[in-house]
Amino acid sequence: MTGTRPRKALVIGAGPVGALTALSLHRRGWEVELWESRDDPRGVDAAPSNLRSINLAISSRGLEALRSVDPSLAEQFQNEAIPMKGRMIHHVDGKQESQIYDPINEQCINSIGRPLLNQRLVESLPEEIKIRFNTKLSRVDLNHKYAYGSSADDKNVVPGEEHDDGEIASTGAGLSSGSKKGKNKEKEDSKSTSFDLIVGCDGSWSKVRTSMMRMERIDFSQSFIPHAYIELHMPADPTKPGGYAIDKNHLHIWPRHSFMLIGLPNKDGSFTLTLFLPFSSLAALTTREAASRFFLENFPSAVQIVGEKMLLDDFENNPRGNLVTINVTPSAWSSHALLLGDASHSMVPFYGQGLNCGLEDVRVLNSVLEKHKVPSTTSLEVGETDPQLELALKAYSIERQADLKAICELALQNYTEMRSHVLSPLHHFRRFLDSF
Ligand code: FAD
Repeated sequence: MTGTRPRKALVIGAGPVGALTALSLHRRGWEVELWESRDDPRGVDAAPSNLRSINLAISSRGLEALRSVDPSLAEQFQNEAIPMKGRMIHHVDGKQESQIYDPINEQCINSIGRPLLNQRLVESLPEEIKIRFNTKLSRVDLNHKYAYGSSADDKNVVPGEEHDDGEIASTGAGLSSGSKKGKNKEKEDSKSTSFDLIVGCDGSWSKVRTSMMRMERIDFSQSFIPHAYIELHMPADPTKPGGYAIDKNHLHIWPRHSFMLIGLPNKDGSFTLTLFLPFSSLAALTTREAASRFFLENFPSAVQIVGEKMLLDDFENNPRGNLVTINVTPSAWSSHALLLGDASHSMVPFYGQGLNCGLEDVRVLNSVLEKHKVPSTTSLEVGETDPQLELALKAYSIERQADLKAICELALQNYTEMRSHVLSPLHHFRRFLDSF
């Protein structure tokens, strides 16, 4: 080929990490195409009462990453999020105990609804980025840099069953609902495109990763913890200021040693609650009566605020999610493919850093591309290996490796901390002394 052309990135997955990756590469002058198997989230009311919402705690790590791509994004999220300055421990007898994270510098983490965060990131993407929603990557020819995708046939897809997010399919929903599986039908490979670099931001069950693992000796590990997570909802209380039934500037924890309930505030006065409970204990809660006894015995204050019916309805109907740790090394192959976010490093949510780390991947990638002076244009044919980009991706993978492994381990350690150690006042005192 004579002359140059923009480098083309195909980003798979328009979750938070994929959307930020697409924006970041576009800002570097790359041509960017983005495939997402779900619907377009823009224009959907992302209020917590309308969507099943994983709340996220966004920390300075994530905010700095957003700032590195577009300072106005970080500012926007800070305005839309609710600062949580500490934990509020809810004891069984109803006593509440505030444990401030950083009494000296007053640092905090920020609660934001995941759908809202995702929606805002997708909304920030300029028109020049070609976004294909309802397009699911089905296979990649990494040698020839060609990707094939299929479109969901809307008429044959059962809502909530069409995605590879691994939350629902393996575990099913609560006490009474039956399986809805088996109705998916897809048009095979109706979409295809070439790329210079495919970036797998397609989450824990990444298809890009599977393709890379066929090309290279990639170390891969995956381990589940015994706990499931189930989302519940605490509605706003119109009689309380701002509708908040419990303090809005805390991450609320009902720690019960081998299990726990947590609550993160939403802007509308409601809280998103998440119950973490071993699958083995869940197996014993097969009737509404057993579930009622469980909640009244262990979380009487939450039952009182939410109301027994609403709590049990959510418990019965909401899906049981798996919690997995995934490590992948290296996270890049040649100059052709790269994994970011959960596709590269899933971690249990107890350190609140999964997404923050995924956003940080984008910041680090940007700085590595900068350092290696990878231009936004290329004169190579599609399919040719690009030594300069290959070197940069290798450097990225090496730079991230130790940090990602460490944070996955910290997340696992915090699993015991949150549900058990926080109950010990001595432990908290020690942490307080450590902060000096
Ligand atoms: P995902 O959010 O999984 O997005 C992947 C996207 O790829 C999806 O939109 C999916 O539809 C799409 N996709 C998948 N396969 C394909 C395909 N073949 N073709 C096209 N598209 C595809 N992190 C924090 O930082 N703070 C927290 O407080 C926090 N709390 C959490 C609480 C819980 C209960 C859980 C489970 C996780 C929590 N996390 C938290 C982790 C956080 O949710 C994830 O790290 C984050 O969502 C990862 O973002 P991602 O964009 O990499 O992947």
